[in-house]
Amino acid sequence: MMGTGRLKKKDDLHYRKGSTGTHYNCECCKNFIDNFEVHSIGGRLLAVEGRCRIMGMENSRRYRIRPDHRCDAQELDRSKCWWLK
Ligand code: SF4
Repeated sequence: MMGTGRLKKKDDLHYRKGSTGTHYNCECCKNFIDNFEVHSIGGRLLAVEGRCRIMGMENSRRYRIRPDHRCDAQELDRSKCWWLK
C-alpha cells in the first residue's frame, strides 16, 4: 500500500534513536529542518514537524524526522549547537 511502511532511506542510512551527545543528532545537523509545515491535499495546515533534506521534504508521515534521532549522514552544523562554541 502506498504511504505506509518505513522509508527505505531511513533504513539505508540507519536512522535511529540519537546519542546523549546531542551534537550527533538531527537537531545539530546541516540537513535538518525543524519547522516543516505538513499540509492536507486541500492545503490545510496539519502539523509542523521535522524533515531532512536528505531523507526528503514530503508531506507523508514516513518523512517525519525527530530532533533527538540521528543517521549515518549526519553533518554537524555548529550554528545549531551554540554550546559547542
Ligand atoms: S542527515 Fe541524518 S542526522 Fe541529518 S537531519 Fe537527516 S536524518 Fe538527521
